[in-house]
Amino acid sequence: MYNDIHTRMEAKSNLNLSAEQQAFLAEAATLWPLAKGSLSEVRKSCTRKGCKACAEGRGHPSLIYTYREDGRLRCMHVRPSFAEELRRAIANGRQLEALLVRLGREAVNRSREDSH
Ligand SMILES: [Zn+2]
Repeated sequence: MYNDIHTRMEAKSNLNLSAEQQAFLAEAATLWPLAKGSLSEVRKSCTRKGCKACAEGRGHPSLIYTYREDGRLRCMHVRPSFAEELRRAIANGRQLEALLVRLGREAVNRSREDSH
């Protein structure tokens, strides 16, 4: 029963998608989590009097996520425990962008082949 419904749903969703779209979605689905931007470590000085780390010029490490939104550069503090996941998301985002570039190039190439 479940299989039957599942198969029908799949058949229905496949009706509207080209093989190319399905291939793209399958490839994109492996890219998760996703993010665009960069993660960097900055060193900040604090306001504590007589702070040894600041006095020695080491400061306090802080993770910053920088991204662009509506043309503006913005940033957010990131908890160290989330850094690894965010790095993975950014790496996946770059792969997704590369995939989009490849699709654009392939589409233009195909349009040239079709036009004679
Ligand atoms: Zn300090």
